[in-house]
Formats: sequence, structure tokens, C-alpha cells
Amino acid sequence: MKNIPSKELKAVKIYIDGLVQGVGFRPFIFRLAKQFNLAGLVENRNDCVRIKIEGSSAAIDDFVSAIKNDPPALARIESVVCKQAEVEGFCDFSISVNNNVTDKVTLVSPDVAVCNACLKDIKTQPDRLYYPFVNCVDCGPRFSLIRLLPYHRANTCMDKFKMCENCQAEYDDPENRRFDAQPNACSICGPQYTLVFNDSLITGSKEITGKTCGLIKAGKIAAIKGVGGFHLVCDARNYDAVKRIRAGKNREGKPFAVLMPNIETAKKYVYINESEEEVLMSRRRPILLLKIKENLAPNICVGLNRLGVMIAYTPLHYMLFEHGEFDALVFTSGNATDSPIIIDNDRAEKELGKIADALLIYNREIYNRCDDSVGVVVNSKIRVIRRSRGFAPDPVNLDFDVEGIIGAGAELKNCFCVGKGNRAILSQHIGDLKNIEIFNLYNESIERFSSLFKVKPKLIARDMHPDYLSTKYANDSGLETIAVQHHHAHIASCMAENEYYSDLIGVCFDGAGFGDDGNIWGGEIFIINDVINYRRYAHLDYLPLPGGDKAAKEPWRIAVSYLYKTFGKGFVEIDLPFLKEVSEGDINMMVSLIDQQINAPLTSSMGRLFDAVSAIINLCLFSTFEAEAPMRLENIVDEKVKERYEYGIDGAIDATGIIKGVVNDMADRVSAPIISTKFHNSVVSIILDASIKARLETGINAVALSGGLFQNSYILEKSENALKQNGFKVYTHSNVPANDGGVALGQLVIAAKKRRSKCV
Ligand SMILES: [Zn+2]
Ligand SMILES: [Zn+2]
Ligand SMILES: [Zn+2]
Repeated sequence: MKNIPSKELKAVKIYIDGLVQGVGFRPFIFRLAKQFNLAGLVENRNDCVRIKIEGSSAAIDDFVSAIKNDPPALARIESVVCKQAEVEGFCDFSISVNNNVTDKVTLVSPDVAVCNACLKDIKTQPDRLYYPFVNCVDCGPRFSLIRLLPYHRANTCMDKFKMCENCQAEYDDPENRRFDAQPNACSICGPQYTLVFNDSLITGSKEITGKTCGLIKAGKIAAIKGVGGFHLVCDARNYDAVKRIRAGKNREGKPFAVLMPNIETAKKYVYINESEEEVLMSRRRPILLLKIKENLAPNICVGLNRLGVMIAYTPLHYMLFEHGEFDALVFTSGNATDSPIIIDNDRAEKELGKIADALLIYNREIYNRCDDSVGVVVNSKIRVIRRSRGFAPDPVNLDFDVEGIIGAGAELKNCFCVGKGNRAILSQHIGDLKNIEIFNLYNESIERFSSLFKVKPKLIARDMHPDYLSTKYANDSGLETIAVQHHHAHIASCMAENEYYSDLIGVCFDGAGFGDDGNIWGGEIFIINDVINYRRYAHLDYLPLPGGDKAAKEPWRIAVSYLYKTFGKGFVEIDLPFLKEVSEGDINMMVSLIDQQINAPLTSSMGRLFDAVSAIINLCLFSTFEAEAPMRLENIVDEKVKERYEYGIDGAIDATGIIKGVVNDMADRVSAPIISTKFHNSVVSIILDASIKARLETGINAVALSGGLFQNSYILEKSENALKQNGFKVYTHSNVPANDGGVALGQLVIAAKKRRSKCV
């Protein structure tokens, strides 16, 4: 240490926690130490970044302020703790690589979109860096590659690639953007893409991008290995190619997402406001659902007014767009419908090879598979619908201990959640557990999360449903379990996301969940005290579901049940077009199932009311994908319509007035968009009226909105606004899904609170 008298020399140990690994944090500290003429060392530990620093007391103060005030772009500092230390007499500052192991862990960065500086390198350093895996401390894959903490190359899928001289020099140079960048690689030393086409293998960045673009232009389909798994890719303007992917994936109606090169191109095809642009261009780069302006191939999303768009996020994407001059490419996950996204080359060749004309594979493993995330912007905030790449494994920070608790999640759209210290770490989107491969993935992923974050599971919080596979997982674990009511968990997840734990009115409008009375709940208004205590304040009046599970896939059955409930047996005489689409025998069968109470479980599900209205107006009688009927209903909403239907909220929420209104409007030949909007307005009005009533009785002024129905942008926007206008404090979801993808967080939180109050 130059120029500092030894008696003025101070030593401090600094512990920094948060998202501080894999984000260029140590090089940043290194440069800062040089700038302030300080000596010492910085090291990544499992639980933090630790700095030992020596120098003048003023310089150390400035150093600490600079860390807090101007951290690297991707870092998120959660705490900085400074402790006085003994002077060790360092002569320089260095970065230490050690293998510190404790049970505490720091955060793992999600995968991050390629940065502008790296995109520039592709153009300016064609020899080495015209390369589909170029990355630096500010960008590139992270979660998909990491096996263990701390975050060193040896603990990632990059371990088998030895850096070339140039890469090593960049990696070692504190002034370089690639200093200490663990996945650092170039076209000479790193992973390589190979294009498999007609038994020939093509390599070389220019060759593979050129050839792939040529094939796509000619209407071919490519299976391309990406950050978190394979995609099936074709020209988004080519009707026949899109049709072939649809047939190959056995996917009838569900829309496909598209990848676009930049925001300007996206603006040609969809409407994008300021907050949507911000989300689209964020480092997370999710698929965002956006209102369509101009159509691509008409079979990309049939009869829906929103298109799922994402902007190029890997160097390869940019190289393809540069070569191909496409406006948009279909980028749908490479899997059979309901199976996990494929990550390994052999499997891709075998299965995707049947759909794709060419495969673009690379020779590096994907350790943690990750689908593209999906979201929509409502009231200027992102609302995540599928939480995966770019989001996982970001934790939700809590102010209580959740160590060792696992939230097993629900059955559909499963995500699980592991508790580490005061953090709830939600997994990436796993999927529908009924598929055996997904269930295996679920088991494997829980194990991997537990090992990565060094969690020893002690308590599993699971859904109350006795037959969910997540329940089976919990019961087979041999650990202590706690059953949590599905909708209670939804509300608790919304509370945790908003760090609000006081008394509140919980509105949970959802598809289906096992209720305390054994019926299928899903249209619930709760009064919640201390998070763990809930009272069912009101619910949508029970309705028999003729055919049980089948009814959720065949909305016409629910329509029949609602009509029967509202009008009695005479409903068959009503002149409704949909009743003519179904055979008389089938209708009579539903009535007799209801009458005899055979396979006609009772439900209070709000999702089923949406199904009923969708069928009564002849919009969707059979669903080809989950929640299709409510989606088609939302799709035709006309914001100009302000009227609503009548309903009752004394005791149970009575929707027969709504059904009567819809039927009357059908008789008066009122248009479907007007009926749909009046129906949506009625649901918003129910939320507001019930909340006001509950506030009058309890004095509680806070409302949480959760459950799958709040994926409906119109309902979420209007009810959030209406409640706020009426003086409520309103809590809604943003980074945690309102649908079943968020349930695990609520389960974990309830289990932790119960553990703390010694209920378990
Ligand atoms: Zn970069
Ligand atoms: Zn290299
Ligand atoms: Zn649910």
C-alpha cells in the first residue's frame, strides 16, 4: 500500500448479499479498489461476496458508497455489512478463487439477453466474435448452465471448454468486459453449432446461419437449440410451414409465439405502449401478449386479437435476422404438447426431427431447462403468466424464516418453491404434472434446486387436493407435510409478493381448487387474518358440473347446467343457437346427471361461469386448449360498453341474474362483443360490491386479487382501478403468476407462518 502511513491504515471486511454473482461484480470491485488506491481481495462465497479491503479510512468510505450507489447493471444489492478487521498488509488488490462452502447461499442470476456491446463485437471482430455464444459479464446464459454454487466455470456446463489464449487474456484483464465472465468463449474455443440437414453436417458461424436462413426462407422448419431448450422455427409469414408445425406438435388452436429482430419491426405488427416496450426490451426478454395491428400468417393465432411477441435475445437470433431479413419467425417450444421442452440433441433428432427439416444443435449441455416466459402488461406493470427464462430463479424476499420448506405447488402449470433463509425461490415453469415426463422433471428439479441452494427439506406444504401428483410427491417424501387450501395459497402468494401480511380481503377468482367442504372452489371472497387464518366470506353459488373434469373441457355442459339452474327444465325451449349444436340426447344426459347427482360435483368456480357465457353465446362449446373459452370471451370485449347485468350478493353470489340477462340479450340479437363486455363488467362489479360489503362488516380496507381469472387483462385492470377509486389499498400480482404457477409461494408462506406460530 503506497503513501499511507501504517498508523492510518484501516482494514475492513465487507459482506455483500443479493444478486452479486455472475453479474460482473468482482471485476467491478476490482476496478473500484484500484480507483480508490485500496489493497485486499474479493471472493465469491456461497452466501455472499466478501471483500477484505485495506487503505485510508476516507478511501474505504468512498469505496463503500460507490458500491452502494453505482453497482453493475445486472447486480441487485440487498445488503452491505462492514466489519472492522486486522490489517494483514496486502500490497495489491486481487480476485480470489476459493471453495468456500456453507449452507447459506447467494442468489443465482437468471439467463440474460445479449448486451449491445457484445452485439457490436459480432460486427467489429468477425474472426473470433462473429459467434452465436458471445457473452460478457453483463449478458448471456446463467441459470440454464449452473450446477452448483459458487458461480465458477467449473460448476457450470462450460467446464469442458478450455479458453483459448485470447479468451483467457480477456478473462484475466480487469479492464476488459469479459474479465471473470464464466461462460466466456469465442469461435475458436467455445461451444459450436452444427446444422444437421439431409445427412450433411454444416459448421462455422457464417455457414450455419446462412444455410439455416436459406432453408427457412424456402418454407422449411428448423429445430434450433436455444438457451433453455429447443424451439421449432419457421417463417412467420409462411402459412404452410406454420400449419406443419401445428400438425407436428398436435396443437390445434393454441397460438404460437413469434420472435422479431427489434422493436421497430414489432411495431409494424402489434400495438406497443411505453411500458410494454420497456418489458419487451428488458434483459429478461419475455414473450409479451400484444394487440395485433397487422397479421402475419393467419394460422399463428386464430381468432384471437393478441400475439405473443419476443425480441431477439441471443447472438444467434441477431445473426439469423441479419442474414435472413425476416420480420418475424415462429419460435415455439420444441416439444410435443404438454411434454417438457426438449434439451438434448439425441432426443431432438428423434422427436423434433419428425417435424423439422433441419436441426441446429450445439455441443454444450443445458442443465436447467427453461421455457420462454410469458406475460402481459396491465396498468403499466408486467403480469407474468408463465415464469421461466429471465425470471427464474429470482427469489421473493420475505421478512421471516422459510428455511427447509418446500411449496409443492398445484397440478397444472406447476412451479414449486424452495425456502432458503428469508427467501422463497420459485422454480422455473415445470408444467402439467399429469404428464409422466413432466412429473419426473418435477422430481428431478426439486432435487436440483435443493442441491444448488443447499436446502435440506424439512417440511412440505402441499395442496389440499388428495389426488394431485404434487400431493403424492409430498406424501411419498417421508417428510412432515401440511395441506393448504388452494385459494388460500393463491391469496397468500399475492400477499408475499407485495410484502403485505396484515388483515385483508382476498378475492380469489380461479378455475378449480379443492375446498374445505370437498366441493370444487374457485369464486371465493375470503377474510384473511395473520395470513394463516381465513374465513370464506362469500362465494359464487354452487353449480353442478355434469361430467366432472370433462365439463372443464366442454363449456357447453356448464352452459346447460347454468341454464337449468336459472330456468328449470324449460330452458330447452329457449331459442339459443348453441343448443342446436349439441344433440338433444346429450343435453338430456346432462340434466339427468344433475338430477340424480351422478358425477356432477358442485363448484363455485368463476372460471366455469366464463365457460358458460362463452358457450351460451356460441363462442366456444369445446376447448382445444386450457382456458380457451374465457380467452375467447375476453378477446371480443369492447371497452366502450359500460352496462352490466344484475346479480345477487346477499349470502352466496348469485349469477342467475347474469344468465337471464345474457339470454335476454341473445333474444334481442345483441352482439356478442356487447354481451361479453356486459358480462365482464358484471364480474368487476361483483368484486367491488363484495369488497365494499366486506369492508363495512370488518373495517378491512386492503384487497388482494389472485387466481387464474386475473390473467384476464380487462378484469384485472378494471377491478384494480374500481377498487382504488373506492379507497381500497389493492394488491395484485406482477412477477409471480396469478394462476397456479404462483400457488407454491403461497403454500410455502402459509407453512412458514404456521411453523412460526407452532401450528405444525
Ligand atoms: Zn455482453
Ligand atoms: Zn476463445
Ligand atoms: Zn388455482
